[in-house]
Amino acid sequence: MIILAAAPSTCRSTLVSSCSRRILPCALATRTRNIALPSERCPANDLLVLFDEQTMKDIVPPPPPIVRNDVAAVQALFQQNVVPSYGRFEIVFSHGIGSYLYDITGRRYLDLGGGIAVSSLGHAHPAITEALVEQSRKVIHTSNFYYHEPQGRLAQALVSLIGPGKCFFCNSGVEANEGLFKLARKFGHDEGRFEIITTLDSFHGRTLAGIAATGQAKVKKGFEPMVPGFRQVPYNDVEAMRAAISPATVAIMIEGIQGEGGVTPATPEYLLGLRRLCDEKRLLLLLDSVQCGHFRSGRFQSYQRILEGVPEGEQFLPDAISMAKSLGGGFPIGAFWVRAPYADLLGPGTHGTTYGGSPLACAVALKILDVIQREKLAENARQVGAYLKTGLEQLAKKYPQAIHSVRGLGLMVGIELAPDIANLPGDSSKTQTIRLANLLHAAGLLAIPAGTHIMRFLPPLNLQQREAEEGLKTLESVVAGFAG
Ligand code: PLP
Repeated sequence: MIILAAAPSTCRSTLVSSCSRRILPCALATRTRNIALPSERCPANDLLVLFDEQTMKDIVPPPPPIVRNDVAAVQALFQQNVVPSYGRFEIVFSHGIGSYLYDITGRRYLDLGGGIAVSSLGHAHPAITEALVEQSRKVIHTSNFYYHEPQGRLAQALVSLIGPGKCFFCNSGVEANEGLFKLARKFGHDEGRFEIITTLDSFHGRTLAGIAATGQAKVKKGFEPMVPGFRQVPYNDVEAMRAAISPATVAIMIEGIQGEGGVTPATPEYLLGLRRLCDEKRLLLLLDSVQCGHFRSGRFQSYQRILEGVPEGEQFLPDAISMAKSLGGGFPIGAFWVRAPYADLLGPGTHGTTYGGSPLACAVALKILDVIQREKLAENARQVGAYLKTGLEQLAKKYPQAIHSVRGLGLMVGIELAPDIANLPGDSSKTQTIRLANLLHAAGLLAIPAGTHIMRFLPPLNLQQREAEEGLKTLESVVAGFAG
């Protein structure tokens, strides 16, 4: 595991980074000048990547002293000053290293949530730091009135990973989806077609069009009337989609693997059936790959993984794909790719954003792609994901009264909890997933609830098998406590 990060103030001044890496066990590192973390927070089997001190000083200015707020004080700041639109867990994080996050009391958590499928290289990855520092020394922002190399090179990289087409860059997943909605409206505009059919249990983001596209009543509630032109039908059902098409329909949008809806992969028949349906009815097939994309499934795009070995599978291509999350590893960037015949539909003046595809964001995304390729992280997602899934399946067999089923691909895995777990501790007014998440937190493990019954594991793509094993052991110790 690669480890280097902001550490407690006692250590920070001695933390170093570099290009010439040495990998040392944590315990050894703490005996050197390159102190990492106090040993009690640092298990002996952790590895540290250490960097040449001078190089670090060259690229990173000295960090400011850490202000040690206690948990209640930070929460008070939020209560008084932050819009309460999130139901937050009690934890106050301070820093992270690799697959681990540390809270301000020094507690360590194995992060199998990955910031909801974002932290593709884990926390404080030196390659991301390096890209941020290097690019920020050249230029951070120019506006999209001008050209710059990182955006061109990132677009080229994404096109070569998907197929002939072009890319547009923005800052988030929902913005990428908004771009696809506009693309579809432009495509159908002159024929008066504007309607986009999406699926039940989908999630496409929180803007007004995003919630109109989303197939979950809870995200729409209170924001009616919905933006017109979106309807939902059941997922993995081609005939339901066919039946819903009207003369106004212009596109179909689905997730390759539904994330917020509960980690449900599309079937190969569904993907191929939708492609045929779209060709037959002259509709655009739009894929929302914000959560399931970027090698999480073990291939760049989830459809590439789902269609492996399927006749016709290699020819499958959607008309457009939205991306975000893992693309920037925590630095905000979104993008969409659009297939060649439609790539120039959004001409000058039709769409834009001030920050989208900034030199800084693109430099980070390029560096992440580089690390993923060099370190074969797609393969890692496939292998460690399979290990994690098998372990979860064994837990489901052992504790059927707690875990009903396991699903997902690569490092996007979900466990479906049994409908009513009799002895699940915690506030019974909270959902089962929230209660389980709290128990896992107390045991030092982060996982992400999806609705009331699914817990998701969306860890860094460089998660190591021993970390997956640690997560499984922690989960088992928690589940055995109420279902053993
Ligand atoms: N689409 C999917 C499938 C998502 O999972 C999400 C976020 O979870 C979004 C879109 C919205 O992305 P963002 O929160 O970056 O706007």
